[in-house]
Amino acid sequence: MSKKIIIGNWKMNPLTLKEAEGLFANVAKNLASVKKTEIVICPPFIYLEKLVKIRTSKIKLGAQDAFWMDSGPFTGEISSDMLYNIGVRYLILGHSERRTQGETNVLINKKIKASLEAGLRPILCVGESMRDASHSYFNLVKTQLEECLVGVSKNSISKIIIAYEPVWAISSTANRKDATADNSREMTIFIRKILSDKFGPDAGRIRIIYGGSVSEKDAADFLQNGGVDGLLSGRASLDAKKFIGIVKICEALNK
Ligand code: PEP
Repeated sequence: MSKKIIIGNWKMNPLTLKEAEGLFANVAKNLASVKKTEIVICPPFIYLEKLVKIRTSKIKLGAQDAFWMDSGPFTGEISSDMLYNIGVRYLILGHSERRTQGETNVLINKKIKASLEAGLRPILCVGESMRDASHSYFNLVKTQLEECLVGVSKNSISKIIIAYEPVWAISSTANRKDATADNSREMTIFIRKILSDKFGPDAGRIRIIYGGSVSEKDAADFLQNGGVDGLLSGRASLDAKKFIGIVKICEALNK
């Protein structure tokens, strides 16, 4: 079984390269002895090339989006191949903050296939904006998974990570609510079932992680009781102490 994984999504932060280098170096230095946890940091594109050069073998780099063509007349876009060529190995796709800007499952599917082709490991974000009494949010997540993974071959599935991120629990959501490890567990069981219907027993190799305002206070609960193989952290990953704390909790649980 793959290692547990902790991913930091810096979103559109910090404001300067100096701060980005400082944050990254601090995290790398303090997590140098971690052995049982995979660590990935996803900064804005503009910092990736610099951070690749100061990375330690412990921390891998990911991007927060990429276009689905490898090169050509696509103004403003960056391809998965370009990211791979500078040393990036992970790619967040389908984040709710991009979906609200109009990113569709069809587009995300093209990006997933291109990222796999380029040698990246896509982190596919799925999750409902709200929960309703009739549980229709399960259908929404099912549709997201099915449409985003159309045409993805069984050979590539061990490279894919599914991040269950209930949008109502993400720190940037107005009037957000805390999700519980139970919320996470019921959805990850459901996600596993959809994946195994689609890919068969090999689907067990797909890591499923949880994201949504994770902190050092609830990381252990999600990791132990949430049915997940890791965590995706947004806001907390911008605070070296908090992110280091989350990784160390994961490492301690794996001993
Ligand atoms: C995210 O948006 O991917 C995320 C997990 O953010 P936060 O931890 O800030 O809720």
